[in-house]
Formats: sequence, C-alpha cells, structure tokens
Amino acid sequence: MSSAIPSSGHLSPRNTLANWCVLAISIVGLSVGPASFLIRARETSRNGGSTEAFDVAMFWSHYLPAISLLLATCAVDMALGPQFLKNLSSLNRNGYTTTHVIVNGLALLLLAEALVTVLIGSQFDQLVVRVDVNLIVKVGLFLAIAELYFFPAHRWMHRRAPWLHIMHHCAFEPSFTTNLMFHPLDFVAEFGFPLLGSWCLFKTDWIPAPAWIAAPNQTSFYDPFAYLVTAWAVQLWYALDHDAVLRLAHYRHHVLLTSQYAVYWPGNTKRDDRERLKNMIQR
Ligand SMILES: [Zn+2]
Ligand SMILES: [Zn+2]
Repeated sequence: MSSAIPSSGHLSPRNTLANWCVLAISIVGLSVGPASFLIRARETSRNGGSTEAFDVAMFWSHYLPAISLLLATCAVDMALGPQFLKNLSSLNRNGYTTTHVIVNGLALLLLAEALVTVLIGSQFDQLVVRVDVNLIVKVGLFLAIAELYFFPAHRWMHRRAPWLHIMHHCAFEPSFTTNLMFHPLDFVAEFGFPLLGSWCLFKTDWIPAPAWIAAPNQTSFYDPFAYLVTAWAVQLWYALDHDAVLRLAHYRHHVLLTSQYAVYWPGNTKRDDRERLKNMIQR
C-alpha cells in the first residue's frame, strides 16, 4: 500500500485546471439553491411579507438550476479530472460495474438534491435572515451534535460493517464524484442524520430551547434560517472534504485509510488496527 499522499504536482496542467473548475462550480452549484430561496424570501418580505406557499412550480424553479450545475460539476470531474477514472477502476476491481456506479450515483444526486430542495424550501417565507452570534451558536451546536453521531457511526462501519462502506472507499483519490460513490444505506446514514436531524431541531417546535438561544417569541429551537445555513454548510463541507485541490483531513482518510473518523474535526491520523475494511478492499 502506498504510504504517501499523491501531491498535486503529479497532475498535468489540464488536470489541475479541471480540479480547480470542479471546486469552483461545485461551490456555486451547492450554494445556488439556498441563495435562490434567500432572494425569494427577501422579495416576499419587501412585498409586505405575504405568505407565498412552497409549491411544485417553486420546487422546479430552485431544483433545476442547482441540479444542472451539480451535473455539470460531475461531467467536468468525470471527463477532465484523472481521479474519477482511477476510482472507477478501483470500483470495477472490487466488483462494482460501471453501470452500477453511474446509475447509483445519478440516483443519489437527483434524489438527495430533491430532498434538500423540499426541506430547505418548506417555510421559506419564515426565514429571518441575519448573521449574528445566535445563528453561529445554533449552527455550531448542531454540527457538534452531528460530529458526536458521525464519529462512532463511521468507526462502526470500518470495524463492524465494512460491506456498507467499502464502495465509498474504493475512491483512493477523492474528487467531487466521490460524494456519489456510496452504498445507498451508507449515504442515508451519513447525509440523513445531518439533514433530517437539523430539520427536526430548526424546522419544528419539538425541542424546547433556553431563552438565551431561542429566537424572539419562540420557546423552541425553531429557526428556518438556521436550518438553511446548516443544510448548506453540511453539503458544502462534504464536497470540500473530498476535494482534489484542498486535500483536507478526510482526503488522507481515503488515501491512507487512517483512523480519521471525524467529519468536521481533524483527528487521529494513525492506522486503526481494529478496522476490517482495509483487509477486504482490493487496492
Ligand atoms: Zn471511512
Ligand atoms: Zn469520504
């Protein structure tokens, strides 16, 4: 097994340019949906705060631009970046056909973006847009909760259920399309909790909040704008964590199969002697 992270210097100028393009388009693609809801919410409040219902027409007007940009990001990554083809070969070696990889990835992208559009879009007319300490504390609190869930769940998959996570780890050199190389149950486990857990926290009044963190006139964590920011941050962070230009801590987890099981916190980078996934995967 290779013991070093491949440096970006081994890439041709064309590949490097492609990786930078993927980074730029993915950031825009993941931001355009939330941004379009913010713009619409501002228009609604300018028009006297009339309550405009989230309906099918509004869904498509937000979903289509976002999904078009995300598909374009995948196309650039697949056509011009070298990582996708290397990861596809690895997937093929481990029993995943090219058709399986493409159909699975496309289905995950289309369904996940549809779910995110609906989750963010509902109650969009209730957005209280601001950047303040209260917002930062709420989003930070949820990301800390998500980390407490993700770390043991991720380690459990490596140690006890490697069959669930092995498809994702066939990507030894991650890039944007690595975000779509998941067993569907692994995808639900990794993205479902942050997106649905934060929805329960910020889009319902189910969980009571102390006065110092509750929004004005609220006794719960209800705060649709905090949800929009959280959902955007979670998706963006997954994309950056697998990015071929930035090569953050999770990138090292893919290349070297380290025990970096945290998603937001750069943790232990040693090998985990108790993990079983490395013994199953064909490098
Ligand atoms: Zn892993
Ligand atoms: Zn990963």
